[in-house]
Amino acid sequence: MKITILGSGSAYGCPNCFNDWGNIKNITNPKNHRTRACTFVEIEENKFLIDLTPDFREQINKNNISDLDAIFLTHGHYDHIAAVSELWRAAHILKKQLHVFCSQETFAEVKTCFPYFFKPNHESGSDKIIWNVLQDNQDFEFAGIKWQTFQNKHGHMSSTAFRHKNLAIVMDLEDLSDIGKQKLKNLDLLIMECNNGQDDKAYNGHNNLSNILNWTTELKPKKTLLTHLSTRVDYDELTKILPQDMKLAYDGMKIEI
Ligand SMILES: [Zn+2]
Ligand SMILES: [Zn+2]
Repeated sequence: MKITILGSGSAYGCPNCFNDWGNIKNITNPKNHRTRACTFVEIEENKFLIDLTPDFREQINKNNISDLDAIFLTHGHYDHIAAVSELWRAAHILKKQLHVFCSQETFAEVKTCFPYFFKPNHESGSDKIIWNVLQDNQDFEFAGIKWQTFQNKHGHMSSTAFRHKNLAIVMDLEDLSDIGKQKLKNLDLLIMECNNGQDDKAYNGHNNLSNILNWTTELKPKKTLLTHLSTRVDYDELTKILPQDMKLAYDGMKIEI
């Protein structure tokens, strides 16, 4: 399994607009320059993309990605679904069907945000997008590859986490559900959002390091990668205090498990 972090940033990227760097100390460190959170997973011949960010085009092009098979949407916030609108163009260029997997709640958000996408023959390629709507906590299979899912609370909505074998990707959450704790045992790699870094007082529906340390003490993944990092997180400053088996993601990072 090959994993590429296409984007490691929070909803507004790093820096935010108007070059707002927040608490980031070293703006010359390329690891502090973050596009919105997106992960690319290659399993055998199959290529999976987790979320469709506003930076989709830049992320795909910069990383020389030439093919996609399935896209998983974690939830209906802008930073995770913005490029739904570009999918038909992607399908048209690739000359193939693209499968999208998401929860009923996320599908409802997508339809509200992009109603024109679902009109017949809107654009060449729109008929090539196959929407696979999952029940909460449903397991599924794509091209013979099995995935487990579970829901976590994320502010006013829930977000879907995905697991294949020893890899789990857990995006925006404020708390890990009980079913999540069951499904995250025996992992080689846990990729989890840590939007707030060391700030455990922010009430914004997001996660922080203190929560993650509690959960990983219990769940014991071999490695943990923190992503969806906001301008609260300076790469070198937070890296210094992480345990050895925990790392911060950065754009372009590649991992093989
Ligand atoms: Zn997000
Ligand atoms: Zn979100």
